Amino acid sequence: MIVMREDATPEDVSEVVSRVESTGARAHVIEGETQQVIGVVGDVELVRDLALEVAPGVDHTMPISRPFKLASSQVTHGRRTIVDVGGRKIGGDRFATIAGPCTVESRDVMLESAHAVKEAGAQLLRGGAYKPRTSPYSFQGLGEEGLKLLAEAKRATGMPIVTEVMDVRDLDAVCEVADMIQLGARNMQNYTLLTEIGRAGVPVLIKRGLSATLEELLMAAEYVLKEGNADVVLCERGIRTFETAYRFTLDLMAVPVLKELTHLPVLVDPSHAAGRRDLVESMSMAAAAAGADGLIVEVHPDPDHAICDGPQQLRTAEFADYLARVERVAEVAGKVPAVGV
Ligand code: PEP
Ligand code: MN
Repeated sequence: MIVMREDATPEDVSEVVSRVESTGARAHVIEGETQQVIGVVGDVELVRDLALEVAPGVDHTMPISRPFKLASSQVTHGRRTIVDVGGRKIGGDRFATIAGPCTVESRDVMLESAHAVKEAGAQLLRGGAYKPRTSPYSFQGLGEEGLKLLAEAKRATGMPIVTEVMDVRDLDAVCEVADMIQLGARNMQNYTLLTEIGRAGVPVLIKRGLSATLEELLMAAEYVLKEGNADVVLCERGIRTFETAYRFTLDLMAVPVLKELTHLPVLVDPSHAAGRRDLVESMSMAAAAAGADGLIVEVHPDPDHAICDGPQQLRTAEFADYLARVERVAEVAGKVPAVGV
């Protein structure tokens, strides 16, 4: 990590970058709180031989001790990343809500959900066209047809779309519609997919794997960041423990601990963690109290007849009141309410 002086000129920065790149290493220029920082990923010996600590504009160089480098909070000197998704901000002092049905199941459900969550104040719209299902006999998603319906919902409401990609072969088609790609829990360690998402340069929401440690989650983020894609958001969605009373165990301590380890925004998915609608509101409030940068939550007009995840989806009719209550907690935790923004 190369920390530039506060008075370093843009020429000093580009000179350091080109010297770093002459060794075959990659240089990532990151805006720190008061000065620029250049994160270097490459052969340590070759970069050290450049003696950059005495180059014009350089304050000092230091190794990053953590295994994740670009994701590390060390690299931004305390500055938190704010990810722009189709004009909506995730991170910083905002509390962002991504809401919508589990899957894109029909035009009516998609459009009705989209209008309802927008009206209630959610900023981004979710809905999976490609669904990771435990059983190969379960509904697998509408695929390209689902993407078309998401595009229509976006045209109708102006809401940016968050949708999952499961396979590199679908990445181009998904990128046509998605403002943010969701990398599901089951794919968190699909390194080929992470690399390709990094190259695609589209914002990505990486969900924590069912049995992944925080370090493994941050290493997944590192795969995307390493390719030059800085728009990464992390999501705690429950992990597998010995407890069977609910679907997963929502690990809310992950929120403050991730925020200490990384500069990336952290969201919480209370729906998939709980698997039960009655737990979603309290866990959403707890996530907000823990300092989460927002939520991704499932909402459906008629969950009793939903194709998948019916028991955990909130009803569109109750969503506005739910969100207003959760935003009150977010406000107590220091966030500016985003409802109506
Ligand atoms: C989802 O959000 O649609 C989903 C399948 O979540 P997860 O990958 O966390 O299980
Ligand atoms: Mn779901």
